[in-house]
Parts: sequence; C-alpha cells; structure tokens
Amino acid sequence: MANKRVLITGAAGFLGSHLCDRFIAEGYDVVGMDNLITGDLKNIEHLFKLKEFEFYHHDVSKFIHVPGKIDYILHFASPASPIDYLKIPIQTLKVGSLGIHNCLGLARVKNARVLIASTSEVYGDPMVHPQTEEYWGNVNPVGPRGVYDEAKRFQEAMTMAYHTFHGLETRIVRIFNTYGPRMRLNDGRVLPAFIGQALRGEDLTMFGDGSQTRSFCYVSDLVEGIYRLLLSDHVQPVNIGNPDEITIREFGEEIIKLTGTNQKLVAKPLPKDDPKQRKPDITKAREILGWEPKVNRADGLKITYDYFKSLSPEELNKTAHRFD
Ligand code: UDP
Repeated sequence: MANKRVLITGAAGFLGSHLCDRFIAEGYDVVGMDNLITGDLKNIEHLFKLKEFEFYHHDVSKFIHVPGKIDYILHFASPASPIDYLKIPIQTLKVGSLGIHNCLGLARVKNARVLIASTSEVYGDPMVHPQTEEYWGNVNPVGPRGVYDEAKRFQEAMTMAYHTFHGLETRIVRIFNTYGPRMRLNDGRVLPAFIGQALRGEDLTMFGDGSQTRSFCYVSDLVEGIYRLLLSDHVQPVNIGNPDEITIREFGEEIIKLTGTNQKLVAKPLPKDDPKQRKPDITKAREILGWEPKVNRADGLKITYDYFKSLSPEELNKTAHRFD
C-alpha cells in the first residue's frame, strides 16, 4: 500500500522542519511548503535526498496546487515571534487567514484531515492562570501582537466552520512557548536572544523587571503531542506545552549558569502587551492523548545550547534581523 502523504506548510521553519523529520521517520511521504520569509532551507536540506520528501517554494497565502493525494495537512506557516509581527504584520495576518482558507479548500478537494498550529497567544495577556482551553482570552486586537493573535483566532474559527459546515476533519493545537535546535538565532525570542548574547559575550537583555513568566516545552515533546492529536478524534482545541513555569529573570540566570558567561542581566523596556504570565493547563492532553512532556528544562537547554554553539561565528554574529 502507498505511504500516507502529508502536506506541511512552514516546513522550513523551526517546528515545521521537526515535523517533517517526524513524519518521514513514521513512514509518511512528506510534501514541505514554505515561502522562506522566516524559514530556512538549512533546516530541511538533509531531507532533499529522500524520495519520500518533496519541497514546494510557495506562499500559502496564494492558491495552493499540489498534484496527487494528500491524507493530512499541517498548517504551520506563520511568522511566530513578536519581532516578526512588527516587521511583517500584513503577511502575518494573511498567512493566518488567506493561508488557512487555501489549506482548508485544498483539504476538501483531497478529502484530507487538517491540523492547524494555533497558539497560547489566543489567550492574550491571560486573566485565567494556568490557561485552560475553555478560557476565551484577553487579546488587544490593535496592539503589536494583534496581527498574530487575531489571525490565529480567525484561523481557529475558520477551521471550526469548515468542520461544522463542510464536515471536514480538523484538529487544533494551541502551542505554548517551545524551544530547541533550529530556532532562529535572530528571531528576538527570549531563548535565542539570551543564548546568542551569552555566546557573543554581551549582556542578556531582560525585558521589564523579569517577573513575567513563561513555560518552555522542548520541541520533541511538542512534536509528540501534535502527532498524537492528529491521529486522535478530538476536534476541540488542545493545549500542548510544558507546565513548568519560570520567571524570565530566573530563566536568564539559568542561561548564565549554563553558558558560564561573565555577563549579567540588564533591564530593557517591557514591550507593549507582553503577557505577564503563561502556563498551560494540560489536563486535556493528558486525558485525551495520554501525553505529557518528558524532557526537563535542564536537559532541553543543554541540547539547544550545544546546537547554538555549533553554529559558525558568521551565523552567530548575524544579529540583524533579515527584514532590515
Ligand atoms: N524577553 C526578554 N528579553 C529578550 C526577549 C524576550 O526578557 O531579549 C521576554 C519577553 O518580554 C517575554 C518573554 O521573554 O516576556 C518571552 O518572550 P518571547 O519573545 O520569547 O515569546 P512570547 O512568549 O512573549 O511570545
């Protein structure tokens, strides 16, 4: 029997590329798609020699044409860091709205199941802690994060409408902060920022007083959760993330210890609408998917640090954002 075939949008990105690896390892044929605005072919170049892997350099905000059967579509194309939203706000809105519309249309034609990458950002600056899937969120639609948050909220609504109106098979994962190898060093996120700064011998830029919290999930745990969700029959959104919550100050101190840098944390202004706290309630993932994270932060950070250390000095010094 022919292999199952999965289309992964955002395939050259951090999460997309790890998903490509996982589906290849599970015996699927993988069609990767990316417009390479924030993705990097380096993340998937090891797959190009495989006959099970194909790549389309395409912007999913435009009509998608893929010949042949498709069993699953995973929509992971999107800028995904606050710096990106500021630099490319319109593309961010388009990929979450026009992009998902194209994916859902393609899924209908192919009779495929669609899983969309949603986000803890749908909860905005949350008034409920930890965040359960039932919480509707506290999002500022016209703030700097609005272009991402509202696109992802629209994407969930659109996906649910295709499910209820067209009977399409759909899954929604709400992804919390995730880290690991292949994160973009210059995407402005806290982990690559801190590790990059430590490696270059610069002070670590802590935004605000560092009392805001995040909960960091190692990428292999996230991919496992997504894989299980795709194959489950659960249509409602499911949080996937690691509930081990930490303040950004403590996180910075952990990075200083891990890297052995002599530099220190320096306070910088807190960006507008920066969520004060974030931690997933993963009861649903535990009960429905039998999933919970396995990699603790010390182990995950060590692997990630080794990855960043292995980058060339040229890449390490590429602090300027690529849209500059
Ligand atoms: N942050 C920081 N220094 C940096 C980058 C980020 O202190 O150089 C903080 C940021 O203000 C936020 C947290 O780290 O409170 C996580 O930021 P990130 O951009 O990684 O993701 P977010 O969860 O905010 O989308």
